[in-house]
Amino acid sequence: MFYIHCPYCAEQRSEEEFHCMGQAHIQRPENPEAASDREWGEYLFFRDNPRGLHQEMWVHAAGCRKFFNVARNTVSYEIFETYRMGEQTSVTAGTTAHGREGQVEQVHKVRRVRA
Ligand SMILES: [Zn+2]
Repeated sequence: MFYIHCPYCAEQRSEEEFHCMGQAHIQRPENPEAASDREWGEYLFFRDNPRGLHQEMWVHAAGCRKFFNVARNTVSYEIFETYRMGEQTSVTAGTTAHGREGQVEQVHKVRRVRA
């Protein structure tokens, strides 16, 4: 079990209250009428599956029921940051790899905690 910080409730809550809704920051085609079948297919069905840093959209289903974003390491499950919809993460692959651990610690609003 681990805890996730909800940026709206401003609390650490049990992971059981949340659901992952997949990749964050997916851009809808700007001009849908002009989008090709390939562009629609990529928008609807194709998602990144990186090893390492990944931005995901989560929902606080058993809490405030709001959607927010999580910057997470897909290998270690470490959550670097949670942030509200419409915001951008301050975590990049460079900040998680080395050298800026202290800065990453400051933006860690969520930490994986073994129970
Ligand atoms: Zn919440």
